[in-house]
Amino acid sequence: MDLFEYQGKQYFSRFGIAVSPGDIADTVDQAVAVAERVGYPVVVKAQVKVGGRGKAGGVKLANNVDEVRLHAGNILGLDIKGHVVHRLWVERSSDIEKEYYASFTLDRPNKTHLGMLSAQGGVEIEVVAEENPGAIAFLSIDPVRGLDLATARRWVAEAELDEIAREQAAELLVKLYDCYTKGDCDLAEINPLILTPEGKVHALDAKVTLDENASFRHPEWEEFRATETEDPREKMAKEKGLNYIGLDGSVGIIANGAGLAMSTLDVVNQVGGTAANFLDIGGGANADVMASALEVINSDPKVKVIFVNIFGGITRVDEVAKGVLEALERVSISSPIVLRLDGTNAVEGRAILAPHLNESLITEPTMLDAARRAVAFASA
Ligand code: GDP
Ligand code: MN
Repeated sequence: MDLFEYQGKQYFSRFGIAVSPGDIADTVDQAVAVAERVGYPVVVKAQVKVGGRGKAGGVKLANNVDEVRLHAGNILGLDIKGHVVHRLWVERSSDIEKEYYASFTLDRPNKTHLGMLSAQGGVEIEVVAEENPGAIAFLSIDPVRGLDLATARRWVAEAELDEIAREQAAELLVKLYDCYTKGDCDLAEINPLILTPEGKVHALDAKVTLDENASFRHPEWEEFRATETEDPREKMAKEKGLNYIGLDGSVGIIANGAGLAMSTLDVVNQVGGTAANFLDIGGGANADVMASALEVINSDPKVKVIFVNIFGGITRVDEVAKGVLEALERVSISSPIVLRLDGTNAVEGRAILAPHLNESLITEPTMLDAARRAVAFASA
């Protein structure tokens, strides 16, 4: 689960990481009230779960009440990369001497945590990595040993942070690591981490992704969940107990087994199509599950065709075929369906479907053929 900047900053605060005083505002008047409270100048910041808000006009400095009104009015309702701004964060503006970058994330191949630190912050780290890779100091952290202050001190020196910032930055990094591990984050990123002209180091931005697998340890995450705008398709799928992830394409996908479902996405892509979803109906694949799966996919207005890819193992294809027919009696589907049925009892399964096949219920012998047929429908 991704957090909004203001939530990330609240989370940082719990671990003793310094952020600027501020508050949220959902209206221009509220923004003014916050600004009056924290004192001018302030920064008015769009709260959307996407980066690059500054460049998109979603971060503005305001020196007085008129400027707060102007910027808050402009930013509320602004569309930033498809995310409409409904909430602002207004905080006391900081003077910036230097902008740094700091983050912790997982290094899955190495089974360690990965710290990234750079004296060149404020810009996207991907850009720094490409144009000036030497400017990022990488730190591989054994999750059992953790990060101690001595290591953090060496790290800030290696990253060539300004001398005056090093001790504060090292202490802050240990706290950020604490937040990242004890706080069960997949990502904890500060960009920019700033040095002020007064020689203070603190976080100007916060990007936090929480590890949902740890949510049982964090009843307090409920407040973050409350502000999540859930994909209506995913909500429906969750209610029906399906293993579904919504995507942007036009080919609806139903497969049995997560591996086969992922391969199906790949094959659809390979033949020039785009998947509307990931959906693994698991081993059961009976009429109830099939009907639920078809309903969820059918509710997606972008879907032009549904590709059902079943490889019978323990699941018998004749049972799946019966399930499909029964589901089609219950749910009326607006897109054509292409089926690839193979594996245990495939011959019996195809025989069950044979009398029902028509121009919008089609079987193909292989996964690749079925993908081609589905994509042809999707691009028609
Ligand atoms: P992002 O563009 O979504 O990453 O949003 P940020 O919160 O990182 O803000 C973008 C940029 O705005 C920062 O890199 C800073 O240069 C600038 N900025 C943000 N807050 C302040 C502030 O308090 N004072 C000043 N002077 N600049 C700020
Ligand atoms: Mn930023």
